Amino acid sequence: MTDCIFCKIANGEFNTPFVLETEDLVAFNDINPKADTHILVVPKKHYASLNELDNEELLGKLLNGVRQVTQKLGIKSYKTVINTGKDAGQEVFHLHIHILSGNIKGV
Ligand code: AMP
Ligand code: ZN
Repeated sequence: MTDCIFCKIANGEFNTPFVLETEDLVAFNDINPKADTHILVVPKKHYASLNELDNEELLGKLLNGVRQVTQKLGIKSYKTVINTGKDAGQEVFHLHIHILSGNIKGV
């Protein structure tokens, strides 16, 4: 989607360093970290939220991306969060999974 910040990041438009990149997803540091480690796992394809995701296989790949990121960083204890909808605190309307570890302040 043209005006979507996470689409632009996933397309490499800001040269954001990726913790992980696969065919389907990227993972990068949250700009406003709410824990010692705060990483976002983001599908390359635009879905506004979990409500719009119509692809079970991609859902599995995203969770597997979480595992790959945590394994890569040697993190064994972490929290995953998906905010869906404005009332639940979603601010960026491109589906993403938060990974939080260490001194978690909450998202
Ligand atoms: P949510 O409230 O679940 O939509 O989370 C959006 C998250 O994206 C917040 O934790 C923001 O700090 C983060 N964020 C917003 N813009 C950027 C950006 N340009 N790069 C990295 N993280 C971002
Ligand atoms: Zn997008």
